[in-house]
Amino acid sequence: MATDVLDVLRTKRDGGALTDEQIAFFLDGYTAGSIADEQAAALLMAIVWRGLDARELGTWTAAMIASGERLDLSSVGRPTVDKHSTGGVGDKVSLALVPLVAACGAAVPQLSGRGLGHTGGTLDKLESIPGWRAELSNAEVVAQLGEVGAVICAAGDELAPADRKLYALRDVTATVEAIPLIASSIMAKKIAEGTDALVLDVKVGVGAFLPSLDRARLLAETMVGLGAEHGVRTVALLTDMEAPLGRACGNGLEVVEAIEVLQGGGPADVRALTLALATEMLSLAGLAAADPTSALDDGSAMATFDRMVRAQGGDPEAPLEQAEHVRTVPSPAAGFVRHLDARAVGVAAWRLGAGRARKEDPVSAAAGVVCLAKPGNAVEEGQPLLELHTEDDVRFDAAVAALAGAVEIGPEPPEPRPLVLDRIA
Ligand code: URA
Repeated sequence: MATDVLDVLRTKRDGGALTDEQIAFFLDGYTAGSIADEQAAALLMAIVWRGLDARELGTWTAAMIASGERLDLSSVGRPTVDKHSTGGVGDKVSLALVPLVAACGAAVPQLSGRGLGHTGGTLDKLESIPGWRAELSNAEVVAQLGEVGAVICAAGDELAPADRKLYALRDVTATVEAIPLIASSIMAKKIAEGTDALVLDVKVGVGAFLPSLDRARLLAETMVGLGAEHGVRTVALLTDMEAPLGRACGNGLEVVEAIEVLQGGGPADVRALTLALATEMLSLAGLAAADPTSALDDGSAMATFDRMVRAQGGDPEAPLEQAEHVRTVPSPAAGFVRHLDARAVGVAAWRLGAGRARKEDPVSAAAGVVCLAKPGNAVEEGQPLLELHTEDDVRFDAAVAALAGAVEIGPEPPEPRPLVLDRIA
């Protein structure tokens, strides 16, 4: 029976299940341009309301992968494993984790997109290093994985092109927040990247894309299932994103903090999460005997970071751009920091110039927020709590407005929060 786009829309509108043929017809037609944006938008909204069952989701994800190429990393000569984070404020973990896991013997092919909204993108962070280049050909990715074991670069146009088009449409039609659409979007890109194994860092809390634990868990379970279905060993950690991770939020500021972690120091939460994710990745890669703690402390992870950056034209020793204007936000009272709202800090960093509203906007390497005090720290009245960095001082007022009510000070310290809330395998 011939497939018709209106039949596809009616089926999902009325709560039916799409056939495999209908899904392939829709995704092929939309990628090729024979199905219009308004038709695709109608189907996406129907999926938000009606969902996709497990078979539909598997077929949908397979069709997204098949819309482009799947990289062949079989010549790399090491087990491949990657990590994907659903995005958090101050989440610079990839910068340290990718070279760390490579220093322990795996190859990490991290093909990534740019940041949008209040969480930063790893490519934007690395681009604050003078000379560093995000665009690599597939041949360059494979060669660098063999030589250095670590690549962080831009995903090329041929990687799940159906997702590129659909994601842009979801962004302007309020259809991003549907678990089957998010899970298939993330997993299609990660599976097409060619990695053998994958660790997902699914953030939970006010700074996360899906703040509630239940929704984050469902997303994690859905993605782990899709990985297994496509032969990619996948584990997810649910991790806390109530407060920013570490102290620095902003591109160049986060590179400096990641380098501290690679030198065996850095904030305790960034180091702990980096090691938790590294342990999972190494175990999936069959390298459970490797010791990531030693690799951070003995300089081998740092040496791999250096080689990874130089291989992509960057100079890891060049000074990073510094913001022209710096202002601090003082504590309104004495006591303990009970809460520091990650989303508010992310929005403030974004308004200072660290993030973009549209994907073609430029970002500042130097802008951002440094959290001088974190939940649990004791502070005096008037003591600086946050340090705002920007190139353009007219941005301060909007950033300060985003921070209204973001810090709660009280007489008692808060209960310590676990960093890793759950593990889904
Ligand atoms: N990130 C993605 O890559 N896709 C989504 O749908 C949401 C977040």
